Amino acid sequence: VVESDLNGQTVRLPALSESSRQALVGLLIHGPASRADLARRLRLSGTSLTRISRALEEENLTLDGTPNSEQRVGRPSQLVDVNVDRVHLIGVKLSSGSMNLARTDMRAKFLAERSVTLPSHDVQVVTDVLVREIQAEIAADDKVAAVGLSLAGPVSPRSEIIRLSPFLQWQQVPLVREMQQRTGLLAVVENDVRALTAAEHWFGAAAGSTDFALVTIGIGTGCGLVVDDQLVDGMGGGSGQIGHLPVTPNGPLCERGHRGCVRSYLSSTMMLRHAGDALARPDLTWDGLLELGRSGDPVVRRVLADAGTALGTVIGTVGALAAPSKVLISGESVDLVPLVRNEIQTAAEAIQHWTVPPVPIEVVPFTFTEWARGAAVIALQHLLRASVRKVD
Ligand SMILES: [Zn+2]
Repeated sequence: VVESDLNGQTVRLPALSESSRQALVGLLIHGPASRADLARRLRLSGTSLTRISRALEEENLTLDGTPNSEQRVGRPSQLVDVNVDRVHLIGVKLSSGSMNLARTDMRAKFLAERSVTLPSHDVQVVTDVLVREIQAEIAADDKVAAVGLSLAGPVSPRSEIIRLSPFLQWQQVPLVREMQQRTGLLAVVENDVRALTAAEHWFGAAAGSTDFALVTIGIGTGCGLVVDDQLVDGMGGGSGQIGHLPVTPNGPLCERGHRGCVRSYLSSTMMLRHAGDALARPDLTWDGLLELGRSGDPVVRRVLADAGTALGTVIGTVGALAAPSKVLISGESVDLVPLVRNEIQTAAEAIQHWTVPPVPIEVVPFTFTEWARGAAVIALQHLLRASVRKVD
């Protein structure tokens, strides 16, 4: 079945059956496997597996790897693995004032990575810079097959139009369509937090998990959710916007006029403002704030503790709604977590239903390039889905 949103774009992968796609995804996530393991994993008959294996091999999508050293009896079987350089992907994270670009192989390994300053937020200026940078990558690497774009806000891979971007002040911008037309590549857009969630789902701390959540903390707070092995986008790409959930009724004000919402406590900008005001230190930096917190400064301890309570409230709420197997925490402010573990735990457990065991929380180390890597994973997922056509 050709997806309707392809708009005549060349899909630079051969047509795959849905079972071939699943076999490929399984190998990407779990690594090399013997044919017998693959058949067991996908619940396929020997005949089906032979057909799928042959198709993947003929299209150079898989390679026969090393003999299986773990096998103790019988003739040693060969392990099959994905040819991760069959196609390459580009991921771009669009921020205010800059964009970060990564080129990766099919297992999201960085091949190139750089940052580009954006001279303005004007739609045409951003589009021109984006197209120019993508074309430079295509010129450097003829295996590039798809590009993924990630940015904050309610965007969805099901639409080629960016409906709303608060930080760029965009409305109804057909950026994806223009990227496709001008670069000839398959293009897709996804919310930045969900793109990061996709990378964790296939290649990161939640590889192989069917149900988990990722909460990101930084200037903003976001939540990506995987339920039953599917990344949840929601209507119009609006899922996971947990920044304005209430924490207390009489807290500080956020920019939307709420008192005591998650953002008002947990946004790094807000935390610096609260501590900076109370200490008369308008120059306070994020690292300076954490340092004061570690040394026990009472004002900063309180600001951090309130942020921990807000984060615990988010985790408890997500836990109650979706029962994830674990919650990952990442993002620019992730160094906050070790300082407020107790507050997070207390707030999360206060919300959780008594019949449900506490959700394990895991901190994922973060660097800014992870955003672009996430966008590249979205590009890969979109490409694989677009490659599924009726071939069986
Ligand atoms: Zn708010």
